[in-house]
Amino acid sequence: MSIRELLEQKCCNNLAACTNEQLYYGLLGIVKDLAKEKESNKGKKKIYYISAEFLIGKLLSNNLINLGLYDEVAEILKEYGKDINLIEQVEPEPSLGNGGLGRLAACFLDSMATLGLNGDGIGLNYHFGLFLQTFENNLQKENKNPWIETESWLTRTEVTYPIQFGGFTVQSRMYDLEVTGFENRTNKLHLFDIETVDENLVGDGINFNKGDIMKNLTLFLYPDDSDDAGRLLRVYQQYFMVSNAARLILSECEAKGCNLYDLPDYAAIQINDTHPSMVIPELIRLLMEKGIRIQDAIDIVSKTCAYTNHTILAEALEKWPMDYLNKVVPQLMPIIRELDTIVKDKFNDKSVAIIDEENRVHMAHMDIHYGYSVNGVAYLHTEILKKNELHNFYKIYPEKFNNKTNGITFRRWLMYCNKGLRHYLDELIGIGWHKDADELEKLLTHVNDNTVLEKLLEIKQENKKNLVVYLKNTQGLEIDENSIFDIQIKRLHEYKRQQMNALYVIHKYLEIKKGKKPSTPITVIFGAKAAPAYVIAKDIIHLILCLQEVINQDPEVSPYLKVIMVENYNVTKAEKLIPACDISEQISLASKEASGTGNMKFMLNGAVTLGTMDGANVEIADLVGEDNIYIFGESSDMVIKHYEKADYVSRKFYEEEEEIKEAVDFIISDTLLKVGQKENLERLYYELLNKDWFMTLLDYKDYAKKKEEAYKDYEDRNKWAKKMLVNIAKAGFFSSDRTIAEYNKDIWKLG
Ligand SMILES: *Cc1c(COP(=O)(O)O)cnc(C)c1O
Repeated sequence: MSIRELLEQKCCNNLAACTNEQLYYGLLGIVKDLAKEKESNKGKKKIYYISAEFLIGKLLSNNLINLGLYDEVAEILKEYGKDINLIEQVEPEPSLGNGGLGRLAACFLDSMATLGLNGDGIGLNYHFGLFLQTFENNLQKENKNPWIETESWLTRTEVTYPIQFGGFTVQSRMYDLEVTGFENRTNKLHLFDIETVDENLVGDGINFNKGDIMKNLTLFLYPDDSDDAGRLLRVYQQYFMVSNAARLILSECEAKGCNLYDLPDYAAIQINDTHPSMVIPELIRLLMEKGIRIQDAIDIVSKTCAYTNHTILAEALEKWPMDYLNKVVPQLMPIIRELDTIVKDKFNDKSVAIIDEENRVHMAHMDIHYGYSVNGVAYLHTEILKKNELHNFYKIYPEKFNNKTNGITFRRWLMYCNKGLRHYLDELIGIGWHKDADELEKLLTHVNDNTVLEKLLEIKQENKKNLVVYLKNTQGLEIDENSIFDIQIKRLHEYKRQQMNALYVIHKYLEIKKGKKPSTPITVIFGAKAAPAYVIAKDIIHLILCLQEVINQDPEVSPYLKVIMVENYNVTKAEKLIPACDISEQISLASKEASGTGNMKFMLNGAVTLGTMDGANVEIADLVGEDNIYIFGESSDMVIKHYEKADYVSRKFYEEEEEIKEAVDFIISDTLLKVGQKENLERLYYELLNKDWFMTLLDYKDYAKKKEEAYKDYEDRNKWAKKMLVNIAKAGFFSSDRTIAEYNKDIWKLG
């Protein structure tokens, strides 16, 4: 049947009379069936990508593009007066991830399928996922985020396992999502759930009884871990995820004729950060249940599992108290103890122990000793792991360490989200770049072609107009399409330094109040969720919201400067914001951002980066050259030295720089206190003055200087368009197809 006939059959006979809801659910059914009918990737060996998060974004358009049907469907709908952009608004965004790590996992699934690699994702089917953010009284409020509807992309399977915890057993069930490769075969994302989960456990907000595991296990991603019950729940979730994964992997391999001693020939398991680390002892345990001796089981698993490190922030490296593990997974304890004993017998070095002197299990240490590969996610990050954070491991296992610079899928982050640019590129340089991202370099031959440069500016302007309309419709915000769109969207964290951007906004506001007006108006856009228990992060959101109120409502200032805080930043919002961006803020304290992937999405869409030499910014700078990026701030080496010597004193910068003092003092000014909460603003003020752990004030001056330079350059439209062009042309390296090809060549080695 043709697509048109299917639409008529599934939606309603008279397409012109269908509602967008009818059309969406009709298309959902059609596309889901088509994806299932597609041939899936096969092969002796499979890569299993286990991750606590998969931030996949909406799926309708993505699947239509990958199945090669998007243009045809959009065209048919148009004939009936229907707009696919409105139809896709009906789809709820799956709430299965938090930030960059989860989005990376989603891009990787897309690229694995696209490259024809036999590889599935494994995770959890969170019902409310990550909280939905709203703003009330200039504060973040957390709400549940239900996204699973009666009709959804999920398919219930017959796969179920009994998963044993200390004292009780739960029955799992696997749900599948089709992962469509771009014009290629499909893979699957397997999401495990329990049938006894009870959504009614959650009332207003996101509070629930954390002790009722049978009912709460798969409600939320990253339940609040500020108390024991919350931390225990995270351990329950992690074990549930990996025990299901291990059983699925063993059963699939056995079905293909694997005798379990040759497991590494049938499976590679990528452990995405430490949340899935218990897969190592769990696999060993299951192999032993099948009669394999512990030493052999350890050997088999050590040749199957590979670990990706995503952070050097010490507080983010998971260490679970033995008490927790004893309670949740007593059956793993003898194995974890044995793994620890082997390490302690071999290496007389406390820093590489699995169980430390405080009886905590270091998950990353287990991964490094008992995995065959350890990778960082950008050049600088991997170097810091080898030289600093994991140096003692690197000395033992130099051959295990490798770098895999992150990437993004260009299908979602250009072809879909920036159709204007996509079609122009197709026209100008052909469609080869869809599958070979390096072909974007063909653009470079046009760097002095004014017609091309004009066109790039025109496309950007169109995207900015669209964002203006979107923000008006969604949040009632009025912004000037002719202002500079200066955007920082990412999880809220002190190391990402949204507070530094906010200080500059204050400085600009004060300047305008004194009569010094910018020649081009500026719109500073933020989007960020703060972890519910992260107090200072929420204070920073409060500051930004207060600034938004004060500045946007001041008739003296708002024609020149506006501040926007986008509510509930997620993939859908990113897809609207990124194509409209002029300046991409990537201003983390050097050495702290492992890679970043937002930086890559912006570059690909013709934004110019204002950033520190951190994460993948280093590689971006290297590719585009210093004329096409604005780099500022202390180097990672110097920052690491400051920490070693503990010699950074923020108050010194406050006292010595008038501009800094004025901006910091404004946080507790009467003007802000009128719209804000004293407690929050004062706490943030004292934090910056007395601690400032991520050295905001250290880099502030250089940041402000570089930003002024970028604002000035923006006014020479031709010069700016060249920078845009070079950024787009050089983005090919950051395709996740390149990243995944490297993972396969160096780590997974599928045929
Ligand atoms: C890409 C992306 C991120 C990661 O952004 P960074 O700037 O690299 O931290 C986070 N959230 C969403 C929704 C994204 O699309």
